[in-house]
Amino acid sequence: SFHKSKGQHILKNPLLVDSIVQKSGIKSTDTILEIGPGTGNLTKKLLEAGKMVIAVEVDPRMVLELQRRFQGTPLSNRLKVIQGDVLKTELPYFDICVANIPYQISSPLTFKLLNHQPSFRCAIIMFQREFAMRLVAQPGDKLYCRLTVNTQLLARVSHLLKVGKNNFRPPPKVDSSVVRIEPRKPRIEVKQKEWDGFLRICFNRKNKTLGSIFRQKSVITLLEKNYKTVQALKLTGQGLMEDNHDEIDFSRLGNSNEDLSMDVDDDGADEEMEVEDGDVEGEASEFKDKVLAVLKEGDFEEKRSSKLTLQEFLYLLSLFNKAGIHFS
Ligand code: SAM
Repeated sequence: SFHKSKGQHILKNPLLVDSIVQKSGIKSTDTILEIGPGTGNLTKKLLEAGKMVIAVEVDPRMVLELQRRFQGTPLSNRLKVIQGDVLKTELPYFDICVANIPYQISSPLTFKLLNHQPSFRCAIIMFQREFAMRLVAQPGDKLYCRLTVNTQLLARVSHLLKVGKNNFRPPPKVDSSVVRIEPRKPRIEVKQKEWDGFLRICFNRKNKTLGSIFRQKSVITLLEKNYKTVQALKLTGQGLMEDNHDEIDFSRLGNSNEDLSMDVDDDGADEEMEVEDGDVEGEASEFKDKVLAVLKEGDFEEKRSSKLTLQEFLYLLSLFNKAGIHFS
């Protein structure tokens, strides 16, 4: 009776459930957000560990089963079930999130949580193994990608537990991992559209040198257009680039194809791009020299996105912006 489309794989190993709860570091005063409680195996132990569990479940049959399970027990008045799609639900206040989620919502859910205010202490979430490894990847790792950098901008992420398929009923096709996500406090402030536009270009071909990426005709054309717009607005005194430190647009980041599709092999994608755009360099131009001068200033010309740290990305973007070069 399980719905494949809803990613209903129930945790059946009680030792594993214990281990997840134990590693979560739940305090007896905590309000816990659980996403996708299913039949409530994890919910029960969360109720025993914390003060209150708010569980968001999309499947009405599961909601009923959950309520039936705790009805008449002392745990029931500390459980609040919200029926609905977590991505469309306004989240209440919570101290900690613990969840075994359907994997198809991994990326949008991660950014929804990280965008939630006031921010929580930490989230302990079961992900598909490869997605988990992308979140915790370090510069130089094969899985280091735009998702990694966007997540680590907002949070410290660590790998807690490897979980094999057979801990679930029915077993999913892929292995899993439990990850700990701790929002950065204070946040690193970036201009959301700038940051997003910048990273998209940098990771367009992450194994190429930045020198070759920023020589591409398409990139130079785009940046020059932005540059001219900014200059024109400056002349008319409009000051487009007010320092609106707005938040990252998580819905947009989260729904991008790159982040959601776990089958895409980054390297393969890179090669495809090369055929299309090649290393075609735009003609020599003053503007291009300006862009390359920024790369030289920070000693980035020979570096590759696959090996840049978060701090280096932030620094390079600041150098571009200082030179009046913008990505949005
Ligand atoms: N937590 C349970 C466990 O560990 O045994 C069940 C986990 S199962 C992988 C995922 C659960 O999330 C299912 O109960 C499913 O109905 C629910 N679900 C799927 N999509 C959802 C969504 N968009 N919002 C809330 N719950 C969702």
